[in-house]
Amino acid sequence: METCDVLIVGGGPAGSACAWGLRNSGLDVAILDKQKFPRDKICGGWITPAVFSELAIDASEYARGRLLQPITGFRTGSIGGSSIDTDYQATVSYGIRRREFDEYLLRRSGARVIEGVALASLQRENGSWIVNGQMKARLVVGAGGHFCPVAKLTGARRAREDAVVAQEAEFEMDERQRAGCRIRAEVPELYFCADIKGYGWCFRKQNFLNIGLGRMDQHRLSEHVAAFVRFLQAAGRITFDIPAALLGHAYLLYGVSERKPVDDGMLLIGDATGLAYKQSGEGIRPAIESGLLAAQAVVAAEGNYSREALHRYEMLLRKRFGTSGKDWASRAGQHMPSAWIGAIGRTLLGTRWFVRDVVLDRWFLHSSEPALE
Ligand SMILES: Cc1cc2nc3c(=O)[nH]c(=O)nc-3n(C[C@H](O)[C@H](O)[C@H](O)COP(=O)(O)OP(=O)(O)OC[C@H]3O[C@@H](n4cnc5c(N)ncnc54)[C@H](O)[C@@H]3O)c2cc1C
Repeated sequence: METCDVLIVGGGPAGSACAWGLRNSGLDVAILDKQKFPRDKICGGWITPAVFSELAIDASEYARGRLLQPITGFRTGSIGGSSIDTDYQATVSYGIRRREFDEYLLRRSGARVIEGVALASLQRENGSWIVNGQMKARLVVGAGGHFCPVAKLTGARRAREDAVVAQEAEFEMDERQRAGCRIRAEVPELYFCADIKGYGWCFRKQNFLNIGLGRMDQHRLSEHVAAFVRFLQAAGRITFDIPAALLGHAYLLYGVSERKPVDDGMLLIGDATGLAYKQSGEGIRPAIESGLLAAQAVVAAEGNYSREALHRYEMLLRKRFGTSGKDWASRAGQHMPSAWIGAIGRTLLGTRWFVRDVVLDRWFLHSSEPALE
């Protein structure tokens, strides 16, 4: 039977970051993914520069042969309302394509990669895990995203969870579409829903366009997405219909997720445990940070993978992301009618200082939170 010390289930940003964090640990690390890379992932593909520093990636080296779109500002507003341009005159974010980014992280992770094989069964035997009846691992790290099969074993009950639901399409524009696209590549556009329960985005990444919308409310998502696309057309931001299917996915925000990140011989990282930032829904940076923190905890456990020894990972998560808690709109929602919250939100979105200092600097760019050492 094949063996390894640590089996990471899922080769997305969380799994690859965890393997990369373990590359000098002396542990035999393998990543199992049900898909063959490069593979597509439903995502806007917006990342903050901290992601590159945390993984010691040289942006210019990454850009060789891959799409890397510098972002220097944002246009923000509410759907159907007016908008504000914020210019940073410096690169504050990047646009990437997930099929390129995830493959790059996976290949440099240093782990043995088993692709095109889904996790189908996990059995506990004498303190080890038997994976698919064929492989033995001392520790299993669940990095399989929102639908991670390892998360199910630690008690995740998806039917009862309050997930963000989102739909998006990414496509390469032809000549006619490029001529009919007013979105500037270095200035992505973000438009909040009238009830402030979500927002739509329009990211141009060189000749690729990514349009999508995510909400904290699962009802009538497709109607919200269709209304957003109509708004972009009416406002002259795009003059064509979306030529690709809008695909949907779900994930959990930190503070809302109740998934347990640690169990005997098991850790959950990234979307598998639900870590995306509450206001922006950015999930790549928290996924990568959780992978690196998990690696730290695994090394510190010195081969003792009991729940107690791995508890350190839970403490590191709490130290990094804070204790759970609702965002301002949910807290306000307990005391105020939702129409008031929408009206207050839309007024604030028309205020330059609020957009720059709160929405962009604090909620989207996390500019006061330095990259993980
Ligand atoms: C529409 C949408 C837009 C988004 N836009 C952004 C954005 O612009 N910026 C941002 O930061 N975040 C964004 N997010 C969130 C972000 O995509 C996720 O938080 C991030 O991908 C989490 O990374 P991960 O490694 O935990 O999981 P994933 O990236 O989901 O990777 C999980 C991996 O596990 C594999 N897997 C699953 N099941 C199995 C199995 N049974 N066996 C083996 N392998 C398995 C999958 O094939 C996959 O490769 C967006 C999310 C959505 C839905």
